Amino acid sequence: MNSEKLVRLERMGLGPVWQLRARADKPVAVVDATEAVALDAADFSGLDWEELEATIRDCARCGLCRGRTHAVSGIGDRHASWLFVGEGPGRSEDLEGEPFVGPAGKLLDNMLKAMQLARGVDTFIANIVKCRPVDADGRDRPPVHNEVAACRAFLQRQIDLIKPTVIVALGKTAATSLLGLNEETSLSSLRGEPHSYRGIPVVVTYHPAYLLRKPEDKAKSWRDLCLAQSLHDER
Ligand code: SF4
Repeated sequence: MNSEKLVRLERMGLGPVWQLRARADKPVAVVDATEAVALDAADFSGLDWEELEATIRDCARCGLCRGRTHAVSGIGDRHASWLFVGEGPGRSEDLEGEPFVGPAGKLLDNMLKAMQLARGVDTFIANIVKCRPVDADGRDRPPVHNEVAACRAFLQRQIDLIKPTVIVALGKTAATSLLGLNEETSLSSLRGEPHSYRGIPVVVTYHPAYLLRKPEDKAKSWRDLCLAQSLHDER
């Protein structure tokens, strides 16, 4: 990363900033946790983008369909080299039909900007589940196991169509669901090293909504993004 970019990042309040490590400094040890994971029995492998999005729009594979305003399939460049994956739509996303809107979405956009990326330009943003999970009081909640299991074939097909160079998992639910790990796996144990989804490098970092609550961890998140950038640049 050049010095001009570092200065720009610090001006954006995303520092402290780490330099990307040179390739020779850190041999990349990819931990592939997904090779043995069949994400879902459903087969959407023959669907093109339009068919896939129509199927998601009409989907009733789990109970989340009942409360949704919109199924939020994802947004961005269908040939993106970057794929960012969150856990599921919240209230604003459900209303607007787009992932990561509102304050958390704004922070994600700033993170993309810091990486010289932008929503829709060489990036695709999606979620593990496409419909909003809510608790008994109508508040956003993480998706539960059966909802993830019902929905993940859609993400699998999206990944097959996009063929991203790098995937960034935003938050613990996104990471454990994508990598097929136990839900109790801690985020801290997954950060700092590359994982793999069917041979595609996966980097785990904090969800932007968490970073809004714990801004002191933005620096760690930036470090994760630097790791993702180095993996992207290697391929
Ligand atoms: S969350 Fe996924 S599986 Fe469940 S209804 Fe929505 S699109 Fe279908």
